[in-house]
Amino acid sequence: MPTTLIQPEFLVEIDYDKCHKCGRCVQQCGWGVYSFNERPFPDDTKCRACHRCVTYCPAHCIKIKKNDLALRDNANWSAEQRKNVWRQAESGGVMLTGMGNDKFYQSVFDHLVLDACQVTNPSIDPLREPMELRTYLGRKPDSVEVESDGKGGYRLKEGAGIAKNVKLDAPIIFSPMSYGSVSLNVHKSLAMAAERLGILMNTGEGGLHADLYPYQDNVIVQVASGRFGVNPEYLQRGAAIEIKVGQGAKPGIGGHLPGEKINKEVSTTRMIPQGSDAISPAPHHDIYSIEDLRQLIYSLKEASGYKPVGVKIAAVHNVGAIASGIVRAGADYVYLDGFKGGTGAAPAIIRDHIGIPLEIAIAVVDQRLRDEGIRNQASIIAAGSIRSSADMAKAIALGADVVAIGSASLMALGCHLCQGCHTGCCSWGLTTQKAELTRRVDPEWGAERLTNLVHAWSHELQEILGALGVNAVESLRGSRERLRAVGLDAQTCEILGVKPAGL
Ligand code: SF4
Ligand code: SF4
Repeated sequence: MPTTLIQPEFLVEIDYDKCHKCGRCVQQCGWGVYSFNERPFPDDTKCRACHRCVTYCPAHCIKIKKNDLALRDNANWSAEQRKNVWRQAESGGVMLTGMGNDKFYQSVFDHLVLDACQVTNPSIDPLREPMELRTYLGRKPDSVEVESDGKGGYRLKEGAGIAKNVKLDAPIIFSPMSYGSVSLNVHKSLAMAAERLGILMNTGEGGLHADLYPYQDNVIVQVASGRFGVNPEYLQRGAAIEIKVGQGAKPGIGGHLPGEKINKEVSTTRMIPQGSDAISPAPHHDIYSIEDLRQLIYSLKEASGYKPVGVKIAAVHNVGAIASGIVRAGADYVYLDGFKGGTGAAPAIIRDHIGIPLEIAIAVVDQRLRDEGIRNQASIIAAGSIRSSADMAKAIALGADVVAIGSASLMALGCHLCQGCHTGCCSWGLTTQKAELTRRVDPEWGAERLTNLVHAWSHELQEILGALGVNAVESLRGSRERLRAVGLDAQTCEILGVKPAGL
């Protein structure tokens, strides 16, 4: 009688002729795959293919292979679905996972192509001409009043009532990832990079650690349903405040950070007891209507000296109407998180099957706000699997002001998308609080890699703008005429407001 029907997903192969018997693989693996008795012995069942051992093996003698277990082909019951039934028959539990949706849904971004100048308007050489990536997060006035400056020029009229905006040197920010779900060194890397880049990082729902106070002008502080770490000082410190209503990876459910991850520092920052589970409820228990949301937005504005307040929602059905309500409630930005967005931990069934694609959500929200004449009243942040500068450009052309990157920024710090974040054993030291693992991320090193990534994407965005013949990212925003669809059905093209290629 077998104890389990589930075979290992990966096989670890070591070429012992090359192996130095140094034991580094044992030391590097956070999952406890290796034991050592004169030489390393792997336990395949524990391997998550995070490649930490492969990267650090000095003899390059470790291979991780997919276990091509010969299960009979079945077009309806994939091997994964069969294994999941076996897992649940053995555990009786909800299957948890980390990172983003890995199912084969069509990627709309991959079916959109951008225009290029040829004859009708000239392209611009970004190496010789200034290309403006600067953008401002927040409510814009529909019109401005000016007055004479007394020297023959003009200035904005006193008391014009223009809302505070946050200046971003590039239309890209780091997505919310809470301290607790990621390590403090990850937060420091993000904060340092955000400051150097003139952009923003986001605390997520875990509060702001005191070590990040020097970077507060480059931090969005989040207010989630659990209210972790929220007090007047926290609200004062952020450059902007974000009410988290939903998350793309787990729409409609709250968060849960296991007590093992709540060490002393996390407990102080989150203002909860050490070792206790941090449960954020699915709803905010003071928001059951747009009027309630309005009250919270204005309370946070009052408490912070009228800083921009945004609302983060998961992309779901009727997202256009929801976003309209959020803007009418006084939000300065709407953060749209598509269903491919990452997470530290979520039930796999929720992550993979609930929500709608980001691309559709951006187009629908941008159009709805334009149709209602309130598009200027709020910025749109788009997140949920922005994988490259091309995704960024397409998101902006569909109507986003800014994109947010979470998974890509963790990948810049070493993440290999092994999807084991919920275990707290991340070998790369990212989604863990174990001191022996977290010290693997040096904040200075991390900040440099994140800075490089954003610089690279910014240069590429400038190249794209040059090819389109525009010299400012503001000119691309909502410019869907510059996009064409390849292989999308007519209804999807209509919803996106994008013509098929050839027209
Ligand atoms: S790290 Fe590589 S060389 Fe060192 S013991 Fe492990 S497999 Fe052998
Ligand atoms: S953060 Fe760590 S645990 Fe999560 S997917 Fe990346 S490498 Fe794996």
